[in-house]
Amino acid sequence: AIPLVTAISTSASARKGLLIRNRTAFEKTRKLSMIIFDKTGTLTEGDFGVQKIKSLSDQYDEVELLKIAGAIESKSEHPIANGIMKKVQEEGLELDSVEDYENITGEGVKANIGGKKVSIVSPGYLKKNDFELPENLEESGQETVVFVIVDQVVVGYLALADRVRSSSQKAIETLKKEHIKVVMATGDNEKAAKAVSDELSLDEYYAEVMPEDKQEIIKRAQSNGEVVAMTGDGVNDAPALAQADIGIAVGSGTDVAAETADIVLVNSEPTDISALIVFGKATYKKMV
Ligand code: ADP
Ligand code: MG
Repeated sequence: AIPLVTAISTSASARKGLLIRNRTAFEKTRKLSMIIFDKTGTLTEGDFGVQKIKSLSDQYDEVELLKIAGAIESKSEHPIANGIMKKVQEEGLELDSVEDYENITGEGVKANIGGKKVSIVSPGYLKKNDFELPENLEESGQETVVFVIVDQVVVGYLALADRVRSSSQKAIETLKKEHIKVVMATGDNEKAAKAVSDELSLDEYYAEVMPEDKQEIIKRAQSNGEVVAMTGDGVNDAPALAQADIGIAVGSGTDVAAETADIVLVNSEPTDISALIVFGKATYKKMV
């Protein structure tokens, strides 16, 4: 089996940037019963576009909301930040400088702008911190919504949309044929998560998941006898990648994720992941 794996890992790695760092973990593909995908950038393109900007305050109109969001997001590399920066550029806006920028892990970003405390955050953050969730949000349907908070007041929100990758459907069909349960865990909101889950007929999904929760989800599945593979891209995903029986770092991602993972895929095409698993199963099937 070793020469075969070496062969695929070298030839595929030349083509697609595949690295099997831990062959013992890769051998577990033969017992694999569950795969947990992250959503943004793996099952979806991770290419957000701003669909809507909505003011909830007389003091900030849509352009001002975009300027505030842009000023902070210029410091972030999150796919949501990239989507907001695209819009800022389209509108040709000039941005204020920010101070004390901070990432709120899995929930958003914050900074000071001109003496005001500003944050751009998830619906989960509002709930957790006892902000009232603005009404009339149903119009934003399955989009990813982030709120703009200025000095403890929710002054507006931006709705962004992403798309399911064209290869996700095929990858999931392949995995299900191998009797592998396909699960998604995302930090994004319930509606956006459900839309992707429905579109792809996933077996299960978890929304508004904090990075540390991902590890817990895997542990629980493992204690129910599941052999679990997990994909991840961020620094945040490192503990979950380590917990999984097979940790798969995807995307150009971060070095931390790649260093913890058993398998590294530079391109995060889901079909590359399913093909790798099918190959692993076929290769190690006869081993005890
Ligand atoms: P995932 O990769 O599963 O989509 P993340 O943990 O990266 O989840 O993000 C979870 C949520 O936190 C996002 O859906 C968003 O609401 C919020 N968030 C994270 N980073 C940012 C950011 N730079 N700007 C605004 N919101 C963010
Ligand atoms: Mg992420």
